[in-house]
Amino acid sequence: MRQTLLPDLIVDAHGASSGAGITVERGRLAAVGPATAGERLPGRALAPGFINDHSHAFQRGLRGAVERIEPSQPRDDFWTWRERMYALAGELAPDSMREVSRRCYGEMLSAGYTSVTEFHYVHHRPDGTPYRDPNALAKAVALAAEDTGIRLLLLPVAYARGGLPRFQDLSVQEFLQRVDDLRGWSKGRPLIEVGVAAHSVRAVPRGWLQEIGSYARRDDLPLHIHADEQPREIEECLAEHELRPVELLAEAGFLGTHTTIIHATHASEKELDLLSQHGASVCACPTTEGNLGDGFLPAGGVLERDIRLSIGSDSHVRIDPFEELREIETNARRLSGRRNVLLTEHEISPTPYLLRAGWGRSGPQAGNPADLIEIDLSHPSLADVETSNLPSALVFGAGSGLVAGTWVDGRKAYARGKTDR
Ligand SMILES: [Zn+2]
Repeated sequence: MRQTLLPDLIVDAHGASSGAGITVERGRLAAVGPATAGERLPGRALAPGFINDHSHAFQRGLRGAVERIEPSQPRDDFWTWRERMYALAGELAPDSMREVSRRCYGEMLSAGYTSVTEFHYVHHRPDGTPYRDPNALAKAVALAAEDTGIRLLLLPVAYARGGLPRFQDLSVQEFLQRVDDLRGWSKGRPLIEVGVAAHSVRAVPRGWLQEIGSYARRDDLPLHIHADEQPREIEECLAEHELRPVELLAEAGFLGTHTTIIHATHASEKELDLLSQHGASVCACPTTEGNLGDGFLPAGGVLERDIRLSIGSDSHVRIDPFEELREIETNARRLSGRRNVLLTEHEISPTPYLLRAGWGRSGPQAGNPADLIEIDLSHPSLADVETSNLPSALVFGAGSGLVAGTWVDGRKAYARGKTDR
């Protein structure tokens, strides 16, 4: 079915245009440009949907429960937070995994995310034995995405040591067999893509990193890993390998154009150079990194080296892509004592850079997936905003409350006020 949508404005990273329409056909944008006939969307602007490139959906359940000191842990930090997160992860079963993921993905759609990358590491029964279907929990996540209509990149995550028994596989071969099986199962499911991940250099030894790196390279799969989130992780990696995490990943053959490093908060100049040389990407998760006391992305060094950047809501302390983007620039301002810091060549505003990081593109273009958001132009946060300032008003002066509708694969997946999630 071919359908043309006629909003008041179409937003891209640089501005907004009127008198144009977006034609959707078979899940893709067939045309973007001048149009007069079609379905009018009065009071609405259309923009690309945001990509949430790093999620642990179940962690949304910690909301509000971890914002106080436990008497037994007078010094609270990432590592004590992790104990509380493990307690939650210990309780999950396939049904509850599907339910918690469904709710989280529903919230994402209402906030303007049209696609999510789930970094999935709760695999087995609490005692570590596999479910009858060893991918039962991964499939629960995929079914939750299908329940809500969000696009999912599902990353089964290798975990060899530490954490809970239910995170771990006995061998990398067993792990990769499960990935193969999941890839087979996902065929014919249009919203589901399967990639692969290793949890971190803490949880995965060098031999596994090599195997997983070559598996991903052979089949050109998206490949993710947490790295450089916490100073202690770097100290432990130096003690074990005499290398920093990204240096180890480079030596293990883990880095390539298909690789995304989650966080890179404490990446050294040399590590950033390595990411750039290998064409790897970085995913920043500012609201989570702030909440956990991790620190923040060395965004200037990422931008300077032209390392591709994406955002993730990670632990889901907040689900709001506008806030994630704003935080990246705000942290750069706090650090430098300047304004409008993250400028790419020929730009005078950080907005285009930030929106490209959020959308994975610079605007709606023919050939893109038909993943769009409807912006409510009558929302109070946009009152009196000039059209030419709309992209910056979204990034710097607004939040997800102005998302009135979300389209994924050419279908309406969320309409404000119409769905009960
Ligand atoms: Zn994470």
